[in-house]
Amino acid sequence: MEHPPAYVKIACGTTRRLLIGRFRRLPGEQPVWELTTTFAQSRQADPGESASIGELTGTFGPAATYEGCPQCSARSFVKCGKCQRLSCWTGAGWFSCGWCGDAGPVNDRIRSVSQAD
Ligand SMILES: [Zn+2]
Ligand SMILES: [Zn+2]
Repeated sequence: MEHPPAYVKIACGTTRRLLIGRFRRLPGEQPVWELTTTFAQSRQADPGESASIGELTGTFGPAATYEGCPQCSARSFVKCGKCQRLSCWTGAGWFSCGWCGDAGPVNDRIRSVSQAD
């Protein structure tokens, strides 16, 4: 049975626009979450989109089919160590947080994220 997708807020590190990322959980014992698409929050919500609140744990990464940030085309994402939120990320060794403006080197894997509220 397919696990329902999870929705997590992501800010664009370049434009600071608020986006929603949709994650799918890959089948398997260890939770692996893939970012499949990111869209502007103003778009019409999927049914049940706001119902999922909580913490996701596991391994996180962009899906092979992920088309990138709709704002700046960045192909991945990072979790800010300061505010704990997700921002899009180009994959370089450096990131800029779209939420709090913090910037710095990327040095760890994401282990948990909070879902959209
Ligand atoms: Zn972006
Ligand atoms: Zn931040």
